[in-house]
Amino acid sequence: MVTRVAAKVESVIQDAVARPGLVTVLTGAGISAASGIPTFRGPEGFWVVGAREYTPQQLATRAMFVREPEDVWSWYLYRLGVCRAAAPNPAHEAVVRLERALGDRCLLITQNVDGLHLRAGSTPARTYPVHGEIEWTRCADACTPERVPMPVQVTTKCRGEPLTDTDRAALRCPACGAWLRPDVLWFDETYDEPRFRFDSSLRAAMRTALLLTVGTSGATTLPTLVVQRAAASGATIIDINPADNPLGDLAAHTGGGVVRELATDALPTLADLIITAARRRSAAPDHHG
Ligand SMILES: [Zn+2]
Repeated sequence: MVTRVAAKVESVIQDAVARPGLVTVLTGAGISAASGIPTFRGPEGFWVVGAREYTPQQLATRAMFVREPEDVWSWYLYRLGVCRAAAPNPAHEAVVRLERALGDRCLLITQNVDGLHLRAGSTPARTYPVHGEIEWTRCADACTPERVPMPVQVTTKCRGEPLTDTDRAALRCPACGAWLRPDVLWFDETYDEPRFRFDSSLRAAMRTALLLTVGTSGATTLPTLVVQRAAASGATIIDINPADNPLGDLAAHTGGGVVRELATDALPTLADLIITAARRRSAAPDHHG
């Protein structure tokens, strides 16, 4: 069943998928909202440290971690509890179906640290979590670039709950004993390739035929660059977001379109349209790979 809005972009999808190039999906907080995960950028992410209330933009920083590692950790362990309690939704599942049908032609770039794409079944090799993953840690002193899974002894927190002695003992680098830190990109840090696939994401953007932007407004640097590079390289962009945002204008400019629906409503249909178009391309007699 093709929704009215999705029907508008059907021919756009067919034309884009008929060209060579990747089908890239760029996802932001909007895709996880239906799973009950807030952005943590608004009031739901505020946190009291000492006598002061801090915003997520102040908390999710290296500067704050250096000053108040325990408070930053209890905030992340609270968020970890929210993420673990959530389940992937039909939009995450649609991305999995798309990847299974398209294989290496499909790439997922996600700003979300919640891990729901991988839990839904997206493969790590074709998933770039460009802002890190909340289930992983690394040495805060960077004695090694190795990632460490969240130690099993560490327990998630309720709002305002402090660390326990067990948490403090477990959140230590196995190599040097310094604090472990969340393996996420903080607001006062810059992207890199080994950890956040910066160069790979931009290269992929330039090889993209069809880019779906899902539940993101492109407010952070790398997603904005991905969208700009893809547009400059001739990709067709479709923006899926219930709210107007700057990516919508850019999508229209590329000959793509906007789908002003929730990802859970729109993405299953769009994935079907893309899969059908890709199969038609493979079956076409004039197709030479
Ligand atoms: Zn270390």
